[in-house]
Amino acid sequence: MNKNKKILLSEQEIPKEWYNILADLAEQLPPPINPITQKPVEPKDLLAIFPMGLIQQEVSSQRWIPIPDEVLKVYKIWRPTPLVRAYELEKYLNTPARIYYKNESVSPAGSHKPNTAVAQAYYNKIEGVKNLTTETGAGQWGSALAFACNIFGLKCKIYMVKVSYEQKPFRRSLMHIWGAEVYPSPTNLTDAGRKVLEENPNSPGSLGIAISEAVEDAATHQDTKYSLGSVLNHVLLHQTIVGLETKKQLDLIDEKPDILIGCVGGGSNFGGFILPFVDDKLKGKINTQFLAVEPTACPTLTKGLYLYDYGDTVGLTPLLKMYTLGHKFIPAKIHAGGLRYHGDAPILCYLVNKKIVDAVAYPQKSVFEAATIFAKTEGFLPAPETSHAIKAAIDEALKCKEKKEEKCIVFNFSGHGHFDITAYDKYFEGELEDFDHPEEEIEQTLKEIKSLPVNKNIL
Ligand SMILES: *Cc1c(COP(=O)(O)O)cnc(C)c1O
Repeated sequence: MNKNKKILLSEQEIPKEWYNILADLAEQLPPPINPITQKPVEPKDLLAIFPMGLIQQEVSSQRWIPIPDEVLKVYKIWRPTPLVRAYELEKYLNTPARIYYKNESVSPAGSHKPNTAVAQAYYNKIEGVKNLTTETGAGQWGSALAFACNIFGLKCKIYMVKVSYEQKPFRRSLMHIWGAEVYPSPTNLTDAGRKVLEENPNSPGSLGIAISEAVEDAATHQDTKYSLGSVLNHVLLHQTIVGLETKKQLDLIDEKPDILIGCVGGGSNFGGFILPFVDDKLKGKINTQFLAVEPTACPTLTKGLYLYDYGDTVGLTPLLKMYTLGHKFIPAKIHAGGLRYHGDAPILCYLVNKKIVDAVAYPQKSVFEAATIFAKTEGFLPAPETSHAIKAAIDEALKCKEKKEEKCIVFNFSGHGHFDITAYDKYFEGELEDFDHPEEEIEQTLKEIKSLPVNKNIL
């Protein structure tokens, strides 16, 4: 049995293709619907906001999609990332389980997000786009896109959710260093932002609102496209680099994962981590459990409904079939800003609906407790988002202890918490609260989407 701390791949072993799960699903995913025509969205409808290269990937059914050399060259700044055995955490928990984590926090922006940011900036660049707009929650996605745009010479304009803009000033600085413009959303720069501010001048903002602003900006400006950091098929596609490397690393040490765990905001790090294994499970080659972890403050997979809904708050995007809390749902101001999204990736939601993927939700304080245990045993300080996966991994390892089971638990360490220090301070000062939205509140925002015409024949 391998006793190494880190399982490493060489640069030559970086996967050269992304894996597209759409080639291997038994049926077609429910298509995105144009809210005006009520018909499936045509790829050309998306050209106002996305370049053709990415639209083609969004709808492709080709199993393997080559990673361009220019993208691989940038990936090599931090890839392949290590798979690490959490020996000290195992010891602390006194568990017979073997715990591994895939460390995606080693990228320049500190998370998995550059895996798609670099690809998206590249495809925009080769089609002559000059500016990218986007939204960001905690600032992880904004900083990843700022990093990527800087490399490919694109201008980058970022709408940052106001509560995070105020809670996380250092991520804002990081975006500035890489040359991006950053605005606290809702802003009065767009119709969408002005509309929200009219209704609620003190709106803390949400990812949904910031998406509305960034999409509007791209759709109304020349040479400008929009870039989304999660949810869409092409984003999960780019993130499969994470799962493909993990698979190679586990093969190197003859491990078969019993459970793969990841946190879910829009589903990109978890999706990219598990999808290359999902195919093996669908084919009956492995019996791995896939566990998605979310906050109780935004319980999309555990309390949402599998219906069509808008991707943004104002209702500018196509309707996507996903687990959703309703596009008007505004999650409590938890520190895992990247997990405050009302919906989730259609691919992931499909797998949850088919019971191929399980989901759990945890309250904020238990998650920070898990994060602290991890920092004290394994050293790395996790992002609050990532800490949800750690909490679930710890719980699974404790179950193994109770049942005397030697399971192999692998989780995705999606990002570090170096820019989330104020959240940790609050935790230690006893100022963090748990949030659990009352059922009636969720029912309210769901009521509106239940009455959308597309959902009539689903319900
Ligand atoms: C953005 C982010 C997430 C949540 O987004 P997903 O698309 O669900 O992966 C999780 N962890 C970190 C560190 C993030 O930056």
